[in-house]
Amino acid sequence: MNKEPEEAYRGFEQGPIRPPSEAFSLLIRITRNCPWNRCAFCPVYKGSHFSVRPLEHVLKDIEQIARSISLIHLRFGGEVYAIDEMTLNRVLQDTGIDLQAFICAVNWYSAGMRSVFLQDANSLVLPTEKLLSVLNKLTQCFPAVQRITSYARAQTIYKKSLEEMKQLREHGLNRIHIGLESGSDKVLKFMKKGVTKEQHIEAGQKVMNAGIELSEYYMPGLAGKELLEEHAIESADALNKINPTFIRLRTLAIPTNTPLYEEWKSGNFKKCTDEEIVHELLCFIEHLDGISSIIKSDHILNLLPELEGKFPEDKGKMITILNEFIGLPDQEKLIFQVGRRMGLFDNLSERMDVKKRAVVERVIKQYGISNDNIEDIINQFMSRML
Ligand code: SF4
Repeated sequence: MNKEPEEAYRGFEQGPIRPPSEAFSLLIRITRNCPWNRCAFCPVYKGSHFSVRPLEHVLKDIEQIARSISLIHLRFGGEVYAIDEMTLNRVLQDTGIDLQAFICAVNWYSAGMRSVFLQDANSLVLPTEKLLSVLNKLTQCFPAVQRITSYARAQTIYKKSLEEMKQLREHGLNRIHIGLESGSDKVLKFMKKGVTKEQHIEAGQKVMNAGIELSEYYMPGLAGKELLEEHAIESADALNKINPTFIRLRTLAIPTNTPLYEEWKSGNFKKCTDEEIVHELLCFIEHLDGISSIIKSDHILNLLPELEGKFPEDKGKMITILNEFIGLPDQEKLIFQVGRRMGLFDNLSERMDVKKRAVVERVIKQYGISNDNIEDIINQFMSRML
């Protein structure tokens, strides 16, 4: 890893993204951007350089939040929304707390201060000693926090020892999110994920053996039309061997600022339709076996948010949902696809809601949406969602 650059404290910082499940967490930025940054499908940090924030800056951020929480609690009795602007400015000036840190503290206080998320893309890339210092500071300042989570690359965890992972768990890191994306080595290589199926399995098992909750992200559509079945079967096989706490679905979208966009436009990548992705998911769910994972479909890009449940007991229910979509007449599929992308439908049966259906039918008519152009419209919509 590069030597940390010497830099002045720029004030309290937060990175651009967090998992949907961390919506109520305090975000503490310990690195900036992604140290890998080569995945062909990923737009998030393209054009941004990776850097490690100096430890003392991260600790200062945590102290700012701790001091803000004391102020909110002791001086304002938790009634933060009643503070007038003049009082707030004076307090921030007197205490030297950044406005950004104070706002984050207010939001976190209101959400119950139960969880912390370490940003950005791969905090585990830091030496374990440094991570332990951050975790110790967090647990010292906020002893009631129940969950500390981070994103991590499987390749990074593959290089850490089980003992290091256990140490991190003992010091408070109790959930990790890994982008499996695929269990197919062909897909992983084409997408420049920088990790193999075997390394994914070893890293995932290490997290679980350390007693840390694990979310593995599976990306429907990532193999395109040609490797669809291999992607589903190999991914299910990898996940069967890991048995992660959560399997999270996050459907592929292809924004223009990704290398994959060029591959798609030049014909090297054949993007799946919504219906093909549902068939892929059916194959994936059918091949998941012998696990006790919870499946979550908690991303706006997913066509079927209701495709959730606990294995093994909900496997049949999930297969029924997928078969229900596959069995719909074309016009009903179209209505659901459009309504879902408009944010009106969260499950298949909602398309029968008379008022919502009328809105969707009006939009379909007004914009001339049909089974011939729905995929283009969805592509435009999904790349805007990122
Ligand atoms: S490791 Fe994650 S954040 Fe980095 S490029 Fe790949 S998908 Fe994007």
